[in-house]
Amino acid sequence: MSDYSLDLNDDQQTLVDWVHTFAADVIRPAAEEWDEREEFPWPIVQEAANIGLYGWEFMAANLSDPTGLSIVLAIEELFWGDAGIGLAIFGSGLAAAGISGNGTPEQVMEWVPQCYGTADKVQLGAFCVSEPDAGSDVSSLRTRAVYDEATDEWVLNGTKAWITNGGIADIHVVVAAVDPALKGRGQASFVVPPGTKGLSMGQKYKKHGIKASHTSEVVLEDVRVPGRCLLGGKEKLDEKLARGREAGKTGQKQPAMATFEATRPAVGAQALGVARAAYEYSLAYAKERMAFGRPIIMNQAIAFKLADMKMEIDAARLLVHRAAWMAATRKEFKNGEGSMSKLKAAEVAVWVTEQAIQILGGYGYTREYPVERWHRDAKIFTIFEGTSEIQRLVISRNISGLRIE
Ligand SMILES: Cc1cc2nc3c(=O)[nH]c(=O)nc-3n(C[C@H](O)[C@H](O)[C@H](O)COP(=O)(O)OP(=O)(O)OC[C@H]3O[C@@H](n4cnc5c(N)ncnc54)[C@H](O)[C@@H]3O)c2cc1C
Repeated sequence: MSDYSLDLNDDQQTLVDWVHTFAADVIRPAAEEWDEREEFPWPIVQEAANIGLYGWEFMAANLSDPTGLSIVLAIEELFWGDAGIGLAIFGSGLAAAGISGNGTPEQVMEWVPQCYGTADKVQLGAFCVSEPDAGSDVSSLRTRAVYDEATDEWVLNGTKAWITNGGIADIHVVVAAVDPALKGRGQASFVVPPGTKGLSMGQKYKKHGIKASHTSEVVLEDVRVPGRCLLGGKEKLDEKLARGREAGKTGQKQPAMATFEATRPAVGAQALGVARAAYEYSLAYAKERMAFGRPIIMNQAIAFKLADMKMEIDAARLLVHRAAWMAATRKEFKNGEGSMSKLKAAEVAVWVTEQAIQILGGYGYTREYPVERWHRDAKIFTIFEGTSEIQRLVISRNISGLRIE
């Protein structure tokens, strides 16, 4: 296998260096301020748009890498800078993925660029699936979509919870139940265009970490969208509903699950960025900090911790890269490899950031040093886009062929 290589190619290395420079020069210095302010970091997102790091062209270019690695490499660097700001920059990608995964080519061309806008007019996208009573259990959505044949419009009603960019986005992609009795097979995704009446922001959540990322409820009250906003089109939906009604079981994945499945290695890469930041910081600190007349790294208790941190991060990265490569080359995730990558990287990030606090001792526990922030930020990766328990469910069902509950 002469062409087998784990080296990054020149384009990938250039990308890593470019994103890293932005993360080091622009994101890192701003991270503490936006964490404290707990507001969306518009000036930083604008700077990212100015240099072409925020925009659909950037996403399209990186997603077209046939190895699948470019996008996860870029994300790791971005989140190395800061996870809250990283998600502010990357969050629109979830809406874009929802549109790309379910829309017709015409819908993708029309709506995906609008999730980002331009450097002159930055826009945001939000992907709205979760509800107060339906997070992991996405088959139980209560938000309803009813077709008004007279006007060829869909009428959406319901409340979405925990929505990244919710209410401040220009494009909201909403997953709703058309036929609730069919559970996941009775759901469809809709684009809610900018300025549509009836969509409003509910409560804005105060969070434990990733505070620079905006998370809100989205309230939908008689929101009317034109028929062309149904992703995939009416004919496809009617076929899907008919199949669902007849067979009861079509094996077809519901829209929300398909989106999350494809984006899992990307979430793993986010977690990797945070873990690597904490590892690098605590390694440098351990070489500097003196106790008992020697640098603390001279104690095996500290050095071995750092060895394990590095090993776990590298192991997680290999899983993330494998899953990204499998997704790009359309290999089937027979053993839940996408879930494995997200699960491992998330748990590594939580563990590594906790070890980093330990290595910094009392300083690590204060907000004067960034490691406590990284620990707060890391925790989200075991929760959103499928909790760790749900990832284990996916993996165990895949490896066993059984419907493990
Ligand atoms: C900051 C943030 C941003 C988010 N952004 C978005 C977004 O942009 N769009 C969006 O749609 N959603 C978003 N979410 C929602 C997120 O995906 C959900 O919070 C997550 O899926 C978990 O759902 P839940 O909170 O309802 O928890 P629950 O589903 O109530 O789970 C509670 C606990 O029970 C466990 N559990 C549940 N079912 C099982 C089971 N069958 N087996 C074993 N354990 C189980 C879970 O693992 C968890 O530990 C976001 C959440 C947060 C916190």
